Amino acid sequence: MCGVFGIRSTERDVSRLAYFGLFALQHRGQESAGIAVSDGGRLTVVRDMGLVTRVFNEQQLQALPGELAIGHTRYSTTGANRWANAQPLIHHGPVRTIALGHNGNLVNVEELRSELVADGVQLRSGSDSEIIAAFVARDPAPLPEAIANTMARLEGAYSVTALAEDTLVAFRDPRGFRPLALGQIGEDWVVASETCALDLIAAEFVREVRPGEVVWVDEDGLHATQALPAGPNALCIFEHVYFARPDSRVAGVEVHGSRVRMGERLAREAPVEADLVIGIPDSGTPAAIGYSKASGIPFNEGLIKNRYVARTFIQPDQAMREQGIRMKFNPLDEVAGQRIVVVDDSIVRGSTMKQLVAMLLDAGAAEAHVRISSPPVVSPCFYGIDMADEDELPAAHRSVEEMRQLIGATSLHYLSVEGMQEATTLPEDAVCRACFTRDYPTSVPERVEKLRFEPAQV
Ligand code: SF4
Repeated sequence: MCGVFGIRSTERDVSRLAYFGLFALQHRGQESAGIAVSDGGRLTVVRDMGLVTRVFNEQQLQALPGELAIGHTRYSTTGANRWANAQPLIHHGPVRTIALGHNGNLVNVEELRSELVADGVQLRSGSDSEIIAAFVARDPAPLPEAIANTMARLEGAYSVTALAEDTLVAFRDPRGFRPLALGQIGEDWVVASETCALDLIAAEFVREVRPGEVVWVDEDGLHATQALPAGPNALCIFEHVYFARPDSRVAGVEVHGSRVRMGERLAREAPVEADLVIGIPDSGTPAAIGYSKASGIPFNEGLIKNRYVARTFIQPDQAMREQGIRMKFNPLDEVAGQRIVVVDDSIVRGSTMKQLVAMLLDAGAAEAHVRISSPPVVSPCFYGIDMADEDELPAAHRSVEEMRQLIGATSLHYLSVEGMQEATTLPEDAVCRACFTRDYPTSVPERVEKLRFEPAQV
């Protein structure tokens, strides 16, 4: 996860537009937020822990004048949740200084880091993103070429926005794991993780940054080069299942539509006699609507969500996650005496669903039939999602019946891999679905420790 944004404009207030862009991308990361601006020579960055609205105020935005801006919202996959890992990060190299925001995760980070350290490069953060910055900052080639050279060294997932030498740059790994959209507002160019950020600032979507492509915007306008051959494509299918905002278009397909179709298909694959369909708000709602449409069972709200609590899955530790769930959901009287179909997009760690089922039964629900609009998550993600250990994934070593017992549901069914795929309308060879199938599109490390590059005390 993480959200990235970038803009170049001589006319517009770029830091304010970056702020709005990050506001639209808040769902991609809530641990920290930051904006870096350049006024044509000097790079300034403001970054801090917390939500975009907490990190920035009017005074700070006014103190960030410039013609180029990038922004970042973070949730950690490599490196701890601490200030030094907040982005955009700035790296001063022997050739250039670069500010960079990264969405994704590198899989060959050990060897790259060792090479830099052996060459005496000082790395200040525990994240893999600084490694990308460090390679670009020491490459004597012109900037686009230095980026292409760096990309040739990287394995894994990266959708990046960066500022260097009065130029806005965006680049994406050759498999296109994470989305990256290119838009235009008047004559000015904008890049963002998702199209919803373009919509918010009234920018028009032009196209996606292609897998393996580098685009850069300087005083002469937009330039692009295919730095590495694209493919085989491996867009994260979880973007359609859960991560992306429903009003975004990812790979040309509106995410909300995918989720409704997942629910419709789920109703056909796993029907049940029931009185009411409810969704776990907000991410389960579109699939619940689809389930209701296809089954004819009425849809209604059953759980009220406190929207001022951060998303549980993207908070960094289990204790915080459990507290978060109780703060977040409360059942309605509506559920009492009813046989309920409870629809959610996924079960990752299982703790949320277990507590929600107990909550609904305590509130008087007669039955709680859980329907999940994606297959069981059985394997870790190495491409930017925080589920790095199979031990954290209860479905990895349990049957569906054992999972049902674990969460305490009356019945449990998951959507099939084929059903999920068809619902996205994307071809099978265009996506990564490795956490459901164990079929990874790249070589992967045996085990990954999220904090492996952190100092002992942080
Ligand atoms: S492993 Fe799963 S979460 Fe990770 S990129 Fe692939 S589909 Fe997405």
